[in-house]
Amino acid sequence: VVILGIETSCDETSASVIRDGREILSNVVSSQIEIHKRFGGVVPEVASRRHVENVNGVVEEALTQAGVTLDDLSAVGVTYGPGLVGALLVGVAWAKGLCFAKGIPMIGVQHIAGHIYANFLSGGMEPPLLALVVSGGHTEIVHMPAHGEFEFLGRTRDDAAGEAYDKVARAMGLPYPGGPVVDRLAQEGNPEAYPFPRAWIDDESMDFSFSGLKSAVLNTMHNAEQRGEEWKQADIAASFQAAVVEVLVEKTVRAVRKTGVRNVVVAGGVAANRGLRAALQKRAELEGFGVHFPSLDLCTDNAAMIAAAAFPMYEAGRFHDLDLNAVASLSLTKWADTPTIPFL
Ligand code: ATP
Ligand code: MG
Ligand code: FE
Repeated sequence: VVILGIETSCDETSASVIRDGREILSNVVSSQIEIHKRFGGVVPEVASRRHVENVNGVVEEALTQAGVTLDDLSAVGVTYGPGLVGALLVGVAWAKGLCFAKGIPMIGVQHIAGHIYANFLSGGMEPPLLALVVSGGHTEIVHMPAHGEFEFLGRTRDDAAGEAYDKVARAMGLPYPGGPVVDRLAQEGNPEAYPFPRAWIDDESMDFSFSGLKSAVLNTMHNAEQRGEEWKQADIAASFQAAVVEVLVEKTVRAVRKTGVRNVVVAGGVAANRGLRAALQKRAELEGFGVHFPSLDLCTDNAAMIAAAAFPMYEAGRFHDLDLNAVASLSLTKWADTPTIPFL
């Protein structure tokens, strides 16, 4: 089974060819980061235009690198939400055209399901699983009893983890996207330099909150400047990261204890974070549960994870009709429930 994945939900135009849901034949990611950097974030209109310009070339490159032609494709998996609607539409329209022309099935994929499925591309575990989703726009703990089935145990009530990284980085005068830069700085700083708050660390709930932490970091820098004092970038970064990581790890451990599900996968851009990887791995060893992270290049947006998520849907014969639309706020559970049609 050869599936072409297409991902255009945000600022990466990506296409990938996957064999049998696991083997990556190609994964081409064309990032627009350089274009959006000067605005300090993603500009939706600019992103859509870039996707339109890039999508043909990126798909062609993915097919060439994989050594396949359009005739070898069994199906196309495409992200149809959540994300920027204009950006999503570019991928969805492209996939529809190809599927119609070639008479092959189209599988719409929920983007966060894609992030979770990135784990299956690097020898991840089989469900039942818990997924710690830590991306640019989402932070949640998800129970995944079986392929394509999702149940929320907790979620952020305000900012996502990646969003907190990006906002703190911006306040520190660091370039977009801030996560990787803060992560690097944190390696050189003192994580105990500033006692930043750990939101609801003792709370029974598995929900998260990061906006208070973000404000605390901003206030610390502001107050220091008011007093004419220096603040060390590395110490702020390390103390901020320690607060984020501690909460993520504690809530994950709580979810493991509560559900008895002893396999955890981590998903989304923040899964690349060195502090999180080290702390969760260490804790998992102590507690005796399994933890798996995607390989570094598969943590942030890419089409390989979308094709991987499409694979079990393909196996189950669950396809989308060609009237599929982009859905800006498509939820994971909604996607799993979406009535899909057998391909005719
Ligand atoms: P979503 O998937 O929720 O729609 P997105 O696609 O914009 O959001 P991701 O693909 O998950 O986001 O990844 C981007 C995010 O990951 C950014 O917020 C970025 O700062 C963060 N990030 C990337 N690498 C790291 C790192 N090493 N440490 C912390 N954060 C990181
Ligand atoms: Mg991105
Ligand atoms: Fe993403």
